[in-house]
Amino acid sequence: MNKIYDVIIIGGGVNGCSIAYYLAGEGRSVLLLEREKLAGKASSAAAGMLGAQVEVTEEGALFDIAKESRAMFPSLQYELKEHSGIDIELVQKGMLKLAMNEEEARHLKSTIDFQQKLGERAEWLAPEQVKKREGQLSDALVGAMDIPMDGHVNPERLTHAFAKSAVNLGAEVKEYVEVYSLLMDGSNVKGVETSNGTFHGENVVVAAGAWSKRVLGECGVTVPAYPVKGECFSVITDRPLLASTIFTESCYLVPKSGNRLVIGATMIPDTFSENVTVGGLFQLMGEAARVLPALKSATFERSWSGIRPQTGDSLPYLGQHPKYKNLVIATGHYRNGILLSPITGKHVTKMIHGEPMPVYIEAFKLDRLKEYARGE
Ligand SMILES: Cc1cc2nc3c(=O)[nH]c(=O)nc-3n(C[C@H](O)[C@H](O)[C@H](O)COP(=O)(O)OP(=O)(O)OC[C@H]3O[C@@H](n4cnc5c(N)ncnc54)[C@H](O)[C@@H]3O)c2cc1C
Repeated sequence: MNKIYDVIIIGGGVNGCSIAYYLAGEGRSVLLLEREKLAGKASSAAAGMLGAQVEVTEEGALFDIAKESRAMFPSLQYELKEHSGIDIELVQKGMLKLAMNEEEARHLKSTIDFQQKLGERAEWLAPEQVKKREGQLSDALVGAMDIPMDGHVNPERLTHAFAKSAVNLGAEVKEYVEVYSLLMDGSNVKGVETSNGTFHGENVVVAAGAWSKRVLGECGVTVPAYPVKGECFSVITDRPLLASTIFTESCYLVPKSGNRLVIGATMIPDTFSENVTVGGLFQLMGEAARVLPALKSATFERSWSGIRPQTGDSLPYLGQHPKYKNLVIATGHYRNGILLSPITGKHVTKMIHGEPMPVYIEAFKLDRLKEYARGE
């Protein structure tokens, strides 16, 4: 008889690897299957921002989970370094979300208002205060939201750090193994059929990013989800142009080590094509140079793209499938999968252990979907 794992995880992106890490840390026998190489898809394309306050502009479950996940990073960096030897390059130098016109300024001021009421640090800066902090920014800006607590990491390193730590804690990770379908037995999932044979598990977690819908669809399980391509590029400058991450309505600029700036990202829905288009780069370069004119003399380094997993209502899917209780779905993290990866791993581990969950998790369950609503 083949080994029966406690948990089989489909997908070796940041979320699958985080789940493997937290489960292995609890002593579960874990098998993670990745069709290509680890961190080969969205999780290496990301800019790595931990944008709990910059990305979420209204009160609700997403804001709550985002803040909780962001708060995990300072200790996580040491945990992962200890288990894997990998530095995730956490930078906590804050973000400035720029207003380039009066309407954007009004929106930002109301965002600051709601975040301050919830006890978060956020402040409006007048143009001269912004320029004092970041002297290279355009004179055209009309102010900025100062967010001291949002930082960034190296997303590829984070994914590998989760995976290597999981392996060092006893997990098995197999790259270049594609899951073709789930092995179903009534309302139970018994394992997976793969390009490398059959594997059996007590629980199966689908963390296949934008491809989760496809994996689930193979066995008749549907979830509303669609891919959104994002294109990015990086440049090298001869001196640091920015200290904080700069975020606008149309682009962001993230200062990384080695005088590198990562600039992103386009949003092209309904495509799995990973080509980088001239039009996409042209748009990003124009927007970025508008806020940081000195960018024009930077040296172009490279461009890339990734496919974000988006859901029907823009909230991630995090929870047991309503019909198949030992099938857990952890996908749809859209623009925030790096930020949300630690809390995703932690919560999936708790779900599998049957531990109590925070109230906000209700917003992420599949039961919220009409087709899975209780009683229907
Ligand atoms: C340009 C860009 C910039 C971004 N910037 C940020 C950012 O700054 N901050 C942030 O928080 N988020 C950001 N994101 C979003 C973030 O990258 C994603 O939300 C996150 O990486 C999703 O991780 P994942 O593990 O769910 O999916 P993925 O990283 O896509 O991993 C899924 C994995 O599943 C594998 N897989 C698929 N099908 C199968 C199968 N049948 N069998 C086995 N394996 C399979 C795939 O090969 C893939 O490796 C960005 C995304 C993009 C594209």
